[in-house]
Amino acid sequence: MSTIQNQAVIITGASSGIGEATAKELASKGAKLVLAARREDRLKKLQDEIQTSGGQAIYKVTDVTSHEQLEELAAYALKEFGKIDVLVNNAGVMPQAFLFKKKIEEWDQMIDVNIKGVLYAIAAVLPSMRERKSGHIINLSSVAGHNIYPGGTVYCGTKHAVRAISEGLRQEEAMSGTNIRVTNVSPGAVNSELLETTTDPELKAGLDEFYKVAIDADSIARAISFAIEQPSDVAINELIIRPTVQVG
Ligand code: NDP
Repeated sequence: MSTIQNQAVIITGASSGIGEATAKELASKGAKLVLAARREDRLKKLQDEIQTSGGQAIYKVTDVTSHEQLEELAAYALKEFGKIDVLVNNAGVMPQAFLFKKKIEEWDQMIDVNIKGVLYAIAAVLPSMRERKSGHIINLSSVAGHNIYPGGTVYCGTKHAVRAISEGLRQEEAMSGTNIRVTNVSPGAVNSELLETTTDPELKAGLDEFYKVAIDADSIARAISFAIEQPSDVAINELIIRPTVQVG
């Protein structure tokens, strides 16, 4: 039996792509899922699919740019499952464009979702994990959290921030002896709806070309599952997962 059996797992951005694939993977191994995102129809459909295959899932419509909504999400998970074993901090957007295009609203959105959303979710789950001296926080950074390229400046900035937050959190919890594990996941090109968040036509064409080699979201889901399945004294801190033929 997988160690994932009966673990209570919150997944943000569960309505598509990597979040959805991770939900299905963990549900198949017996996790109790709390699915979160803004699109309720997608969450409901995923919940139905998981339940039809014999898995356990509940959902709560959540906008990760709201600190209050993330506190409510954590409270809901605790009420329904009595604990939060794992947070998959996955919600993200990638509206890429050159800085001179001054897409201020898109910068704000990336900072609010990709950085503040990640912090708010950590804030919401940390108290109960620390109290139980057990937990696992998995943050979705990116290869863009390791590299920087023209047009991706703000997105790369947010994903570098996620990596810094993961490492800072890891050190803080390790020194406090809370047994909380932290995993930073950095995917390369993955098939999902993420590309659609880039509206700039110049960059979109290049990204479409770059993503021709993209791998399926299941690949990332399996890596996340692998990190969770390790014994509690083993923390997989960093995972970089690219298509085999991706160069940068
Ligand atoms: P998708 O666009 O398929 O999924 C993004 C998810 O984030 C959706 O479920 C969306 O749900 C959710 N989301 C966006 N904004 C908010 C918000 N304000 N509140 C709550 N949820 C929100 O993309 P991916 O699955 O590819 O992306 C998942 C993560 O992986 C992201 O952090 C991304 O940066 C990262 N990543 C992806 C890569 C790729 O190539 N695909 C590569 C590297 C990293 P909804 O709209 O319903 O709210």
